[in-house]
Amino acid sequence: MKDNKELYDVTIIGGGPAGLFAAFYAGLREMKVKVIEAQDRLGGKVHVYPQKMIWDVGGMTPVTGSELMEQMIEQGLTFDPTIELQQTITKMNKLDSTTFELETDQQKKHYSKTVIMAVGGGIIDPIKLDIDNASGYEHSNLFYRVQSIKDFKDKKVLISGGGSSSVDWANELAPIAKQVILIYRGDELKAHESDISKLAKNNVEYWTHTEITGLQGDDRINEVKLLHNQTNKTDTLSVDAVLVNHGYNRNHQLMTESGLQIDLKDNYFIKGNVLGESNVPGLYGAGDILSHDGKLHLIAGAFQDAANAVNGAKRYLDPEAQKVALVSSHNDRFKEKNKEYIYAE
Ligand SMILES: Cc1cc2nc3c(=O)[nH]c(=O)nc-3n(C[C@H](O)[C@H](O)[C@H](O)COP(=O)(O)OP(=O)(O)OC[C@H]3O[C@@H](n4cnc5c(N)ncnc54)[C@H](O)[C@@H]3O)c2cc1C
Repeated sequence: MKDNKELYDVTIIGGGPAGLFAAFYAGLREMKVKVIEAQDRLGGKVHVYPQKMIWDVGGMTPVTGSELMEQMIEQGLTFDPTIELQQTITKMNKLDSTTFELETDQQKKHYSKTVIMAVGGGIIDPIKLDIDNASGYEHSNLFYRVQSIKDFKDKKVLISGGGSSSVDWANELAPIAKQVILIYRGDELKAHESDISKLAKNNVEYWTHTEITGLQGDDRINEVKLLHNQTNKTDTLSVDAVLVNHGYNRNHQLMTESGLQIDLKDNYFIKGNVLGESNVPGLYGAGDILSHDGKLHLIAGAFQDAANAVNGAKRYLDPEAQKVALVSSHNDRFKEKNKEYIYAE
């Protein structure tokens, strides 16, 4: 087991919107900060919808998920926190009142005086097609998320999945694709009625009780084998691209198997309060993982949770510290950095 005994003031688990804003705000409060993220990149769940326009972050005119992530990451790195990527925290223990021990899936240990859990809905991995040769097409024309709408321009696109995300993408891609066909193994699409009715207006064909059973092609899929699961009839369909939206596997291990007895709601969410405090002193929650009466399940809400959690952690370590950080417009932490902006041409 590799130990990195360096003790941080606060360690933030999760590098999504809540974790990134917590990293910024803790830096502003002059704390020694570490962020540990399971994926190989920061940004969190927004990676699920990089091409979608986001309108409801206060003070920001519409931005794509990608652009928002770029801004959040830049802000999160303002005070140079230590960033550890591709490390999943699997267990937490509290050694004494100001020492948490965090274990990763790679048998590494991290030590911190306080911890902010910003793990969102857990580590989300798209549920993949259970077909032997499927992974070989992931670098060409088999997609589990839309990274760039251009990948579908003038293409015959098969979308598999019956949830709101599939219906939404069918409507969104239809105007730029050559053709969009939506298939679903069940009997009724599970999306807003108004979105389902848009499918016809957008000339999207949709077939229920239909599932993918095979993929054919050399480097790229050019034909898909389909099964009608009521009649057992099979068919082949020529395609240029396949987009699969079968939901996500969620890894809940940390919440359910942590060495700490954290009060959980629905066996997953931290049953905290509006200040982000959990029942474990020194352990805070922020963002989607935190449940409290004033919860706002938006990125904007994650930001507020993050600031509250950092303020709690700061005062846990120093009860005399100010309740909140000084506003940024008057905060000396930005004195030097401001010059770059004020005197920029
Ligand atoms: C399709 C879709 C569209 C949305 N659109 C909007 C919108 O328009 N506006 C809006 O405000 N909100 C929107 N949301 C919600 C928004 O994305 C979430 O509220 C926000 O991402 C929550 O941020 P978070 O930091 O709490 O969690 P997340 O973004 O989920 O980030 C959590 C991070 O923690 C990491 N992690 C998890 N477990 C571990 C572990 N054990 N060890 C290390 N790392 C771990 C994960 O890999 C992840 O990167 C949307 C959500 C979805 C799914």
